[in-house]
Amino acid sequence: MTAISNLLLPWFERHGRKDLPWQIQPDAYRIWLSEIMLQQTQVATVIPYFKKFVASFPTLVDLANARLDEVLQHWAGLGYYARARNLHKAAMIVRDEYQGEIPSDIDLLMALPGIGRSTAGAILSLAHGHYAPILDGNVKRVLARLYQVSGWPGKTATQKQLWKLAETQTPSEDVRHYNQAMMDLGALVCRRTQPKCEHCPLSSLCQSFLYQTQSQYPQAKPQKNRPHKHCWLLLHSHNNHWLLERRPPKGIWGGLWSLPELESLDLLQQWQVDEFGVSLSPSAKQEKLLRHKFTHFDLTLSLVHIPFSENSTAYADLTAHLTDNRRWVRRDQLDRYGLPAPVASILRNL
Ligand code: SF4
Repeated sequence: MTAISNLLLPWFERHGRKDLPWQIQPDAYRIWLSEIMLQQTQVATVIPYFKKFVASFPTLVDLANARLDEVLQHWAGLGYYARARNLHKAAMIVRDEYQGEIPSDIDLLMALPGIGRSTAGAILSLAHGHYAPILDGNVKRVLARLYQVSGWPGKTATQKQLWKLAETQTPSEDVRHYNQAMMDLGALVCRRTQPKCEHCPLSSLCQSFLYQTQSQYPQAKPQKNRPHKHCWLLLHSHNNHWLLERRPPKGIWGGLWSLPELESLDLLQQWQVDEFGVSLSPSAKQEKLLRHKFTHFDLTLSLVHIPFSENSTAYADLTAHLTDNRRWVRRDQLDRYGLPAPVASILRNL
């Protein structure tokens, strides 16, 4: 046992979370899925997605056999879609190379797409009870405050220092509960703002508590000017149908369905000629709709409406140029498509 685990485990026994959906049947598949969903996402947001996901894909092989489209549809709204693409890719590798059994070796786990050291550690410790330290956002915050670790945790040197602390403080016994307890302490007590130090089992060891420097740790990411982008969403409509297109597999919202988009309306006419052999002026309805924050930039979305009248030649020309990745979709069938949350909300509110 270690100084931290001696104090933390009794606290966990009384206050830890023990009935989260992925704790009910904590096998490697469910732990892995929950860990990926919980990256950059709150537990309360993840719970309904997790339940729906395991209802549709109860085993790893079910997930591997599903179409990427279906997986993305289940992920739509959770954001950071590379997570879903990697999850699907990794499931196919496990099905094909490991007979559907998630490996229990840290190097093999970390060789799978989307699994870093902390996720691998969570799978090994929470599903199998193996000694394996973790360092997710909650654990980083607790350790950085306990030991007043300076530097932004995204920096390699700071990460190294935090991993060293995680390794030395993780006990060799009862790792499953210790790792869960560290995550719970970060989520419930050592919160980002207003940590509840008076209820913390580790306050007697905590340097930030001693010197009242909690708000200085972990140190914030150095600020850079965030770039701002703007794009036009093109709403082609015809008889209660909208034209959707599947986005390229990589990049923002990769593989999801969305409206075609352009950086500038000056490109619209040429784009229509190139893509569909038709040229139509947009209607007067051009609206600025939404500002959306991504990790590295802000995006403003504007909408331009391009209606097609019944039986027009332009409609027939456009329809003749459609491919598998572009479809007319009836308004009431939007839910069948995995759409990025901001685009889905624009369409639902039209
Ligand atoms: S005493 Fe306060 S700052 Fe220190 S670990 Fe506990 S909650 Fe976090």
